[in-house]
Amino acid sequence: MDKETGNGEEMNMNDEVVVEEMAEEVAEEATEVVIQETTAETEEEIITDAEEEKAAPIEKEPAKHQAGKGNIEEETPEEKGEFVLPGDLVGTSEEFTSRNGTYEDRGNIYAATTGTVNINNKNRSVSVIPLTNSPTILNLGDIVVGQVTNMRESVALVEIAGIKGKGERGIVGDINAAIHVSNVKDAYVKDLNYEFAAFDIVKAKVIDMRNLRLSTVGKELGVMKAYCTKCRTVLVKDNGNDKLKCPKCERTETRKLSSAYGTGIL
Ligand SMILES: [Zn+2]
Repeated sequence: MDKETGNGEEMNMNDEVVVEEMAEEVAEEATEVVIQETTAETEEEIITDAEEEKAAPIEKEPAKHQAGKGNIEEETPEEKGEFVLPGDLVGTSEEFTSRNGTYEDRGNIYAATTGTVNINNKNRSVSVIPLTNSPTILNLGDIVVGQVTNMRESVALVEIAGIKGKGERGIVGDINAAIHVSNVKDAYVKDLNYEFAAFDIVKAKVIDMRNLRLSTVGKELGVMKAYCTKCRTVLVKDNGNDKLKCPKCERTETRKLSSAYGTGIL
């Protein structure tokens, strides 16, 4: 990924003052985006998803009010961590103080919002920076291409690699989005694993900026390139039906295919 372009250059600077200023700017931008794009209903959706899948039992409702927007000015980002969904374990209260975007329950600290884990080594605190505090280069309705990085029960997580028609803008850092089972196609989806698999390259539309939700509803949207889940060979379209076949091990798989599957044309 090209980190030399645009904001990427500034983001790589280690000077703390600059980082703080950046954080303020980013927070301001993000607040604007939140005002424009907020959809409360999808946040609840994603919380439900996370609750279904997480192993650790939590009795308390996720403390949504702690998922502060625009309150990160005081933070000094020290260590950027992984992408998390609400309910994901981000640390323990022995290690860290629970800050913005997290909540504590029985000695464990969980993400209260979708975003990136941020650990402050100075005061040993952990927070989750909401997705919308990332440099905003995506717009609602953009067609993006990305790779499926993780499959959960009701969402496929996608790392966005490019935006159609905006090649020169590039992607700064990792932008993680999710395709919810209800946004896969114009038909009932019984099992998300019949539609996507890890490593798939997908073309999708941005339908929600707050939680970075993507949709593959529509003929031209869906999987562009898929790999055999057994031997990792690129699957080929089996003429005459909608299935994919592995030329090496003959395995047959299904996906929510884009009409441009295998063409390499975005
Ligand atoms: Zn194979």
